[in-house]
Amino acid sequence: MRALEFEVRSGGTIRIDLEKCESCETKACVKMCNATGMGQILELKDGVPALKHSLEEVKRGACTEDLGCELDCELYGNRAIVITLPVSKLDDYLENSSEQPTYLREP
Ligand code: SF4
Repeated sequence: MRALEFEVRSGGTIRIDLEKCESCETKACVKMCNATGMGQILELKDGVPALKHSLEEVKRGACTEDLGCELDCELYGNRAIVITLPVSKLDDYLENSSEQPTYLREP
């Protein structure tokens, strides 16, 4: 699978399935990433998203982890982005909570 994958400052990773991007008509992730106040790290190269900066620069904080690319890809693109971010103590919280998070509930 052809993919763009990079690490971000929090210790998470962002993975973009470029095969899905090839047929994407909106390229919504790039538009959102370059909106005012966003990280502005993505550009289009050969018709698919690419990084404007080196992997090291992105990991040092060029990516602001605003999650806008993932949201707009879900809404307007081909659902090609998977963001994995560490959320410390979430597992402990869920284990001790009487409520189940929505995404774990039966439909
Ligand atoms: S919006 Fe999603 S599918 Fe479209 S180019 Fe961006 S990452 Fe790829």
